[in-house]
Amino acid sequence: MNTSSAVHARPAYSHAAPEPGTLSELAPGILWLRLALPFALNHVNIHIIDDGSGWTVVDSGVADDRTRQVWDAMLAGPLAGRRVNRLVVTHFHPDHVGLAGWLCDKLGVGVTMSQTEYLQSRLSRGRSGGVDSNAHRPFYARHGLSDDNIHAVTVRGDSYQRLTVDLPLEYTRIRAGDVLNLGGRRFEVLTGAGHALEQVMLLCREEGIFLPTDQVIGHISPNVGVHAMEPDADALADFLASLRDIRAQVPADVLVAPTHGRPFHGLHARIDTLIAHHRERCDLLAQAIAAGADTTAGIMPTLFNRKLDAHQMGFAFGEALAHVNHMLALGELRGETDASGVLRLRLA
Ligand SMILES: [Zn+2]
Repeated sequence: MNTSSAVHARPAYSHAAPEPGTLSELAPGILWLRLALPFALNHVNIHIIDDGSGWTVVDSGVADDRTRQVWDAMLAGPLAGRRVNRLVVTHFHPDHVGLAGWLCDKLGVGVTMSQTEYLQSRLSRGRSGGVDSNAHRPFYARHGLSDDNIHAVTVRGDSYQRLTVDLPLEYTRIRAGDVLNLGGRRFEVLTGAGHALEQVMLLCREEGIFLPTDQVIGHISPNVGVHAMEPDADALADFLASLRDIRAQVPADVLVAPTHGRPFHGLHARIDTLIAHHRERCDLLAQAIAAGADTTAGIMPTLFNRKLDAHQMGFAFGEALAHVNHMLALGELRGETDASGVLRLRLA
């Protein structure tokens, strides 16, 4: 396709990040709202797209009062006068889905999601779906986590419930290959696993704008974790397959606007770096085992050479196990359960 004949000129914006709670413009008709988060990763980027008759909002922020106040101010201020037609939620993590139900109620719109992300969001809201509940102690113990650290990660228990509200009881499904026509722009829907399960990404091919959500980020490596519900998952294989799929489908010269950090160019190079990064992590893990570590918990100090708070500990454990499971699947590691039920690892 001859991109010079595209409806919209390629954006030449500076892409300085807006302050939390304020808007800037990613491109004409694509607003960029930054919302504060109560974590070490202290913000999430929300995209608000002119869809012709109003706005299509992509993601919602966490369910706290600060975020509600920002949305109230946005709807009374910069977004006033045009209706919000649609809320797209990219995946089930609280910084994306958190306030979706509240926004849907307030705006009188439905939620648009992939099937797996919708179902996972509904499940995670329920008691039995809690990500780090006390019931998951055996999962952590099997991988050698100390009682203190198990307490730290499971005591967070209801963090998902605290950072989200219930979703509407019905939703509109989108899936890979769908196209959203928004204000003269065509956004192709891509999905990818590994960070979440069926995370939605949007590509405006004509204009060269890619919204990869959390799947490709410029300044950090997206979290890829294995969690208690599917302890043998090879989430890293899913993630690497998704990166290769994105590299094959999305042109190298797009403007990449992720939901954390700043927009950037150089998608393919960034994907190559992320793939190499995970290989390096696997090699580091192998070194830790060669040096005597023999559980997933045991290799964590080598992989995460810094003090971790409870929130980071849960993520770090899931990330370490993702690399362990991947190396088990590749045949690079072997695991054997000892008499006390702990999975002991060794190099194959
Ligand atoms: Zn996420």
